[in-house]
Amino acid sequence: MYLQSGEWVTILKGKFKFKDKVLKSLRFQIVVLLILVSSIPCFVVKEMILQKYEDRAVSWRTAEIQNQCTILCNQLGSSNYLKEPISEVLNAELSQLSSVYDGRIMVIDEEYHIVKDTFGIETGKTIIAPDVITCFSGTATNYYDAQNRYMEFTTPIVEKIDGKNHVKGVVLFSISTDVIHETLSELETKANLVFSALMLVVIVAGLFVANLMVKPFEKIAHSIEDITEGYDSDKLNVSDYTETLAISEAFNKMRDRMKVLDDSRQEFVSNVSHELKTPLTSMKVLADSLLAQEDVPVELYKEFMGDITEEIERENNIINDLLSLVKMDRTSADLNVKSENINELVERILKRLRPIAALRNIELVFESFRPVNAEVDEVKLSLAISNLVENAIKYNKENGWVQVSLNADHKYFYVKVADSGMGIPQESLDHIFERFYRVDKSHSKEISGTGLGLAIARNAIITHRGAIKVHSEEGEGTTFTVRVPLNYIS
Ligand code: ADP
Repeated sequence: MYLQSGEWVTILKGKFKFKDKVLKSLRFQIVVLLILVSSIPCFVVKEMILQKYEDRAVSWRTAEIQNQCTILCNQLGSSNYLKEPISEVLNAELSQLSSVYDGRIMVIDEEYHIVKDTFGIETGKTIIAPDVITCFSGTATNYYDAQNRYMEFTTPIVEKIDGKNHVKGVVLFSISTDVIHETLSELETKANLVFSALMLVVIVAGLFVANLMVKPFEKIAHSIEDITEGYDSDKLNVSDYTETLAISEAFNKMRDRMKVLDDSRQEFVSNVSHELKTPLTSMKVLADSLLAQEDVPVELYKEFMGDITEEIERENNIINDLLSLVKMDRTSADLNVKSENINELVERILKRLRPIAALRNIELVFESFRPVNAEVDEVKLSLAISNLVENAIKYNKENGWVQVSLNADHKYFYVKVADSGMGIPQESLDHIFERFYRVDKSHSKEISGTGLGLAIARNAIITHRGAIKVHSEEGEGTTFTVRVPLNYIS
């Protein structure tokens, strides 16, 4: 039967779900870890105990058989059994011994002839086995074959002739070790039972422990879900572990930062709508009053049209500034950085603004301490410096001065824009870089502006990894200092 493609998809999806939901879950991994940690030592201990038992059982059996063989060999030696293996007592003893130990005894004489085989198969035959040969040199041997489950012993039958020991024959005793192996496998079965019961306990206890350990993380997930619904909910505080406390703190920090961003976004949107609406309202009022009157005198008509043009100009400025700001935000990641001659860049700006300064007889001076070349985005940096110089002219008095200076050290270049203008009140200094902020509405009425110029300037400087500072005394003047790295740091 072939599966339809849909069925395969369901099976594969099931597999992925299993992998993501079970294999990757912390709970599962804790249980597996506990099983491994407890089963490996148990397994090793079990193997060690079984091995130890086998060694002990084999060595006991060896000592016992060797003992029996020595007694047997003494009896065989003293009764001349090798020559005449007819002693009923000894034959009965041999049969009894071999049946007690579930084995086979062969008595071998000097010519390597088997004079007695308790199995009765090999009697009269010759045996030349390495162990038998070794034993004829006077050394008893023993050998244990765990795989084939038997033990083999050779013991010399010694006769004393002229005070010297002569090996007259050998007893070869082979026994089965089935008893040892049966006990071993019984022990193993019991150990496996205990092992399985232990594993069951470990799994149950592991699941319980894993649940307990994972709970704080579930608490975090639930709390985060609750919190993401709004900023008004309580702060996250899961202090079960140091780690969960750290996560809670980091999350709270992120939430506060997001709240600030959200607030500023909302404020920005409401400011933009308000600022864009104001000129439109004025234009509507002017146009309505023109329409409401019959036979409007040409002078009044011209005056109102002039006012409307001014409002259009204001609306246009706001839109242009907004566009610059949005563009700056969007492209902050990809500045068009090139090596620029900053002296020339500042000269170009001042050349463009000099006629505006001249209208109010304001002296515009440029002081350059050294030639400066730096990696900057020419358009954005020009916009920032232009805004500062424009403000210095705009918020200046008749016959005042504006001094622009350029200096550099090995790392940064500095542009200072100082003016002899009205200055900024101390309480406003923290706000002038905010979007739409204008110092006081009374002078902002006389001097046109959008409140976006310094926000744009600051944005441009920050994207160059630079900094902008302001120093001002009300009634005396203002100095803006810009610091920008000579080499762009991406
Ligand atoms: P705009 O000039 O369009 O109002 P800005 O963002 O450029 O907006 O400036 C914000 C406010 O900071 C201005 O409204 C003004 O009150 C004050 N300001 C900026 N530069 C100067 C300056 N050189 N001297 C006095 N006040 C200044």
